[in-house]
Amino acid sequence: MDKKIDKQNNEFEFDTLAIRAGHHRSDYQENTEAIFTTSSFVFKSAEEAAARFGGDEDGFFYSRVSNPTIKCFQDRLAALEEGEACVATASGMAAILATMLGVLKAGDHVVSSRSIFGTSTVLFTKYMEKFGIGFDFVELSDLNAWKQAIKPNTRILFAETPSNPITELVDIPELANIAHSNNCLLVIDNCFCTPALQKPLKMGADIVIHSATKYLDGQGRCLGGAVVGNSKIVGEDIAGVLRTGGVAMSPFNAWVFTKGLETLNLRMKAHCENAIKLAEWLNEQDAVEHVYYPGLKDHPQHELAKKQQSGFGGIVSFVVKGGKENAWKVINNTQLLSITANLGDTKSTITHPASTTHGRLSQELRDETQISDGLIRVSVGLEDIQDIQNDLARGLI
Ligand SMILES: *Cc1c(COP(=O)(O)O)cnc(C)c1O
Repeated sequence: MDKKIDKQNNEFEFDTLAIRAGHHRSDYQENTEAIFTTSSFVFKSAEEAAARFGGDEDGFFYSRVSNPTIKCFQDRLAALEEGEACVATASGMAAILATMLGVLKAGDHVVSSRSIFGTSTVLFTKYMEKFGIGFDFVELSDLNAWKQAIKPNTRILFAETPSNPITELVDIPELANIAHSNNCLLVIDNCFCTPALQKPLKMGADIVIHSATKYLDGQGRCLGGAVVGNSKIVGEDIAGVLRTGGVAMSPFNAWVFTKGLETLNLRMKAHCENAIKLAEWLNEQDAVEHVYYPGLKDHPQHELAKKQQSGFGGIVSFVVKGGKENAWKVINNTQLLSITANLGDTKSTITHPASTTHGRLSQELRDETQISDGLIRVSVGLEDIQDIQNDLARGLI
């Protein structure tokens, strides 16, 4: 065990926890976290097997339920988000699915912000609604709209802040008050900020969701997700869905994410530094109609971003003049940036949301969420900023 660090989390700072929390050494005393690629664990006796399965004794028995490598990632992320419990999942979508299945039942209702990850919208409206769960969508930053959309059977308020792709924010403490005065849980998808820039649980949220695929990995290698919150809702109800429903993380992926967490703070700072430079540069280009980045002083929620985030994030979206034709021209003229939908990578990526990540949404919903045909999303990586700007300049004419 690493100097019993996970028993004394509150004595250590973020960067220390990111590197050491959750690590229990095996008898070999390895310095680096080991990868336990085993599907099951051996018992000393039939009595021990029965006690582990029955929950009378702590310990590992089957990797769908728990595994030392997965547990290390879970405990480390819980320490960083300052939550009691964390469950790791096969993907970010699996984290959202497990949360919904763990908390809701048929007849319940959810209010969600409108501009969320496209696949989350599809999960809610195409699949969850089939099982008798109702959804209403509201403008993320409009607190009155949230209040008005709540019904007697509403159980969850779900929000992504900042939102994808246009980096809109909601005031988390205010939304938490609304949730709690209506007996609802506030669920925040913290994918864009990560705990390095924003800690929703400390601001009153009940559950934090992650797509670990993005910044937690940080180098675009593995799919994974996580749910963080208190030990009853996350540690029992949502963990129970994992144990039974099987959307578990693989030990190898858990190891990659664990190592990713060690550099999370450094990487997020570097992403933020490059992103503000790119946003300011784009703002000066004649071919650009609008830039969305919370770090810009003309972003409508710049002050809120300064208050609830410790950095503005690595996602910059912008609208080019001339709609889809010119947006595609910018994308097709890049030689360096990766044309791909992933984000949070050291490699900068460029996406046309209206025809990819948000292509399954109706035109009406795209209009409401400002996903216009000229919109481009850049996940600003860690290459030299001058090279990133030069690459975008090729098509910005
Ligand atoms: C990518 C993403 C997800 C889904 O995560 P996967 O790991 O791709 O399943 C959920 N929310 C946000 C904000 C995302 O960017």
